[in-house]
Amino acid sequence: MKTFIRKYEYNYIKKCLFDLNNTLRNCTDPNIVEATRAYIQDKILYTFKDLSKEEIEILDISNLTDPLHIESYLKDLDKYVYGMPSITSTQLTKLFKKEKKLKLPNLDNQDSKLVYLGWIDESIRKLLITYNMDGKLVGMACRLTNSNSNNANVCAVCNHIGSDSEVAFVSPICKTSNTGIGAYKSIGFHICLDSTSCNDRITSTEKLEKLLKDVNNLK
Ligand SMILES: [Zn+2]
Repeated sequence: MKTFIRKYEYNYIKKCLFDLNNTLRNCTDPNIVEATRAYIQDKILYTFKDLSKEEIEILDISNLTDPLHIESYLKDLDKYVYGMPSITSTQLTKLFKKEKKLKLPNLDNQDSKLVYLGWIDESIRKLLITYNMDGKLVGMACRLTNSNSNNANVCAVCNHIGSDSEVAFVSPICKTSNTGIGAYKSIGFHICLDSTSCNDRITSTEKLEKLLKDVNNLK
């Protein structure tokens, strides 16, 4: 059986089953439990297009009648999950050719399933992000700012809420088609500094793709 669930879809299923877990733990009315399960089942299936009969069976949650079942179900489901295709250092160097002396992340161990690859290069104080958009590798080099407030920031990519040390304000320089004065455009947003945790939380790539399109001046 081959993989058919994207990493962010898996995160979405995980989030849905967290709700089911709450219902199983807190609700004593079997009718409400069944109605909630049916609703969650629809939400999960609705995420996918063109599922095979086998895949629908894999996504069937009718047997999850106890909170204990959920964890093992998710563990088992992981074998059907895939992340972004692996990246070579040559691709990264080419993608970020404007960044001088860029320190590349360790690419030896790429079996972890990622929605996007993100790493911090402290020497240039940037968070580098790469993502495979419709088969093409795109990226953004986000300048990190020095701020230390206790504000609650929301990650633009995964919606996680955290203070500056966890969810920081960044500003990538954007590409523009305009070559005249003011050709550089800059945008700013908050994003998780820990890309691994962010990757485990993203349930939709819509916002990430929108940001990458804005930064790279793509339609
Ligand atoms: Zn995040």
